[in-house]
Amino acid sequence: MQTKLYKELYNIWINRKDIKYISGFLVLLSLPLVYALVYFTGGITYVYSHTMYIPILLAGIFLGPRFGLMVGVIAGILMGPIMPLNVTEGTNQAVTNWLYRMIIFSLMGFISGFASNILRNNVKKIDDLSSKDSETGIPNTNYLRQLKKHITEPDLSLFSIIISNSNNIKDVLGVDVYHQLLKDIHIDLTHQKRKMVVIQPDKGMLWVIMPRTNILDDLFFLETILEKSRSVHHIPLYVDYAIGGSIYTHLTDDFSISTFIESDVAARHAQINNLPSFIFDDGKLKKRQDYELVSGFKKALDENQTFLVFQPKIHLKTKKVHALEALIRWNHPTKGIIPPDRFIPLIEETKLIHLLTDWVLEEALKMLIKLQNTQKDLSISINISCKNLYDPQFYARTMSIIGRYEVDLSKLEFEITETQIMKNPDEAIKVLKAFSKKKIKISLDDFGSGYSSLAYLTRFPIDVIKIDRMFMKSIMEKPQIQQIVASTINLSKELGYLVVAEGIEEEETAVYLESIDCDYAQGYYFAKPMKEEDLLTYLSTQNN
Ligand code: C2E
Ligand code: CA
Ligand code: CA
Repeated sequence: MQTKLYKELYNIWINRKDIKYISGFLVLLSLPLVYALVYFTGGITYVYSHTMYIPILLAGIFLGPRFGLMVGVIAGILMGPIMPLNVTEGTNQAVTNWLYRMIIFSLMGFISGFASNILRNNVKKIDDLSSKDSETGIPNTNYLRQLKKHITEPDLSLFSIIISNSNNIKDVLGVDVYHQLLKDIHIDLTHQKRKMVVIQPDKGMLWVIMPRTNILDDLFFLETILEKSRSVHHIPLYVDYAIGGSIYTHLTDDFSISTFIESDVAARHAQINNLPSFIFDDGKLKKRQDYELVSGFKKALDENQTFLVFQPKIHLKTKKVHALEALIRWNHPTKGIIPPDRFIPLIEETKLIHLLTDWVLEEALKMLIKLQNTQKDLSISINISCKNLYDPQFYARTMSIIGRYEVDLSKLEFEITETQIMKNPDEAIKVLKAFSKKKIKISLDDFGSGYSSLAYLTRFPIDVIKIDRMFMKSIMEKPQIQQIVASTINLSKELGYLVVAEGIEEEETAVYLESIDCDYAQGYYFAKPMKEEDLLTYLSTQNN
């Protein structure tokens, strides 16, 4: 899809390479043909030799003066010493005769090439002047007018980028530095694998058009490029920008300059409200609040607004801490602590879920390293989303992150919920087996919330079953639930899984679970998820 758009956008002009090849071919073909024509019509005495001007002019006009000259010389030879004056009479030409013709042929080739070069350059100059900004060389709205006829892509993401500190940069460092900055940004944007078209509608703004994958992902892609640290003439520059985004749909809208009104409005909204970006919201997108959460998440990761808390898993027989589950928290600058249930489902809709999991993994690995001396038997689990599992790069990326830390991989565990694993079981099995081979433990989270049977789950390389916390709420009142939990524990053990019961809030539940041979338990009764400092204090009092 992207290459198609790219071709549409850039093939506005006749593809000159093609024309070169075609005329080269025609020249090569016509040289011997014209020779044959002249020879078989009786020789140079007759008028047919003038046909030779066709390949000479073709070469000059389309291949340039050098080729024009070369073809002129070849034509001169073909029409010269090797061509009789009169074939039937067997008379040859005088040397001055064919030499003079060769000089004229060569000059014709050279001059036509030279003239066509001048013409071509002038057309290009006029074209550049009218379709590019005179200072930066970035395409302007005239270019967009020509472009629109060629846009057939049904779905595009449109972005307006306001360079908020453009006046400051111009005042302090000069207009040239500012123009160079725009040029650099333009180069960065257009030299990506994903093709985009950049337009400069005025001095302080850029428009970006790209085939739409998901507008939020497109936006993050753009932001990553803009956030690159820059320097112009060795002066480090901070680009303060506000991006507005909007959606273009081929079927409903007519592409025109006014198509950018929505993204312009969104960019101004972002600028006024001090937001890095804003997507024009007219019902095409989900609730604004959701959007604001998602759009702020990358910044949250970069600025350490996120942190991990750790909840112990307790060995019921010995009451010792056996493992920790890492859970993410987001301390939002204005909204306070946002629970993961509120933002993870939104993040999972975008590629940011990969950044999230990478970040959690890395923080968890750091924690494992910290615990290595004092609590070397503790393992740490992290939660993996199915979006991670089905990402083709996930395994390689994860292993490369892990490779940066010297940890015992058997102390690392991945929790995946039962319902998520079932979305694409075959793919899940493949990836999980690969991790399992590396000794990473796999744990089936929220077991019982879906409908899979334990027997079916034997296909998966699972080490641990975590019984969903909804069972624990009513287990003490309902014998049927006790039956379900007890049989799940029994069968799990027979199948060789370890069992963790989640969400234990009461002592009697813990006592009951121990009595039915549950290995481990996790819940507020034992400990709530804790920040690192509290955890270290907690651990020092527990496992001694
Ligand atoms: P989960 O994986 O099932 O995590 C257990 C959740 O139950 C945690 O909520 C934990 O605080 C809560 N919990 C623990 N003990 C009790 C208890 O005794 N009673 C009750 N009522 N709740 C208890 P939290 O931290 O709010 O996380 C909610 C969900 O968000 C998690 O469910 C997990 O699915 C997801 N999540 C959290 N952190 C991450 C993460 O880093 N990555 C991913 N992909 N998902 C995460
Ligand atoms: Ca979990
Ligand atoms: Ca769970």
